[in-house]
Amino acid sequence: LFITFEGGEGSGKSSILKSAEQKLAARGYDVLATREPGGIEIAEKIRSIILDPEHTAMDARTEALLYAAARRQHLTEIVRPALESGKMVLCDRFVDSSLAYQGFARSIGMDEVLAINQFAIQDLMPDRTLFFDINPEKGLDRIARNENRERNRLDLEHIRFHEQVYAAYWKLVAEHPDRIHVIDADRPFADVEADTIQDVVSYVNH
Ligand code: C5P
Repeated sequence: LFITFEGGEGSGKSSILKSAEQKLAARGYDVLATREPGGIEIAEKIRSIILDPEHTAMDARTEALLYAAARRQHLTEIVRPALESGKMVLCDRFVDSSLAYQGFARSIGMDEVLAINQFAIQDLMPDRTLFFDINPEKGLDRIARNENRERNRLDLEHIRFHEQVYAAYWKLVAEHPDRIHVIDADRPFADVEADTIQDVVSYVNH
């Protein structure tokens, strides 16, 4: 069972994922938590090319191809073997992130980014996706608060971009209502986590 966690900055999805992994394991599920590039050497190297601040000339399509390449390697080395051995895999971000960030927010087009990702993943789409819904302004506020600072100019410049990402996620929710389940992330951690676990368990038993 392949479950992906999606959402914008400050949605809390990564912390919820780690905690949910432990609670699901305690309930007896054979669960693996991972995120791209997942410590996979080739994928880490690809990711470091994407994130290198000196690569200011990186073209949006180059970035999308590199994300897809890193995803492919992580899928091949980690996700597919775990699924084949019967594990429940919880993955922090997957194709939907590329559709939202590269496809929509960077304006390449969601269909085109989907096409290169289909080449990379060969039909291995998640069985279930949880979208952690938080208004982008609130998400950025949360991050600033965690870092113990005021929201700064950079955050404000980014807000437009994050609003695009957020809008893209809602398009995906509308297109894939059976796969993508929305979790209201603008609540206390314990409540968000409880809903997450409940959704996973009821999906397993459906
Ligand atoms: O999961 P996390 O919030 O740590 O993601 C870090 C950042 O990586 C995202 O906020 C986004 O800017 C970037 N990212 C991206 N395209 C992806 C995946 C992540 O731009 N496909």
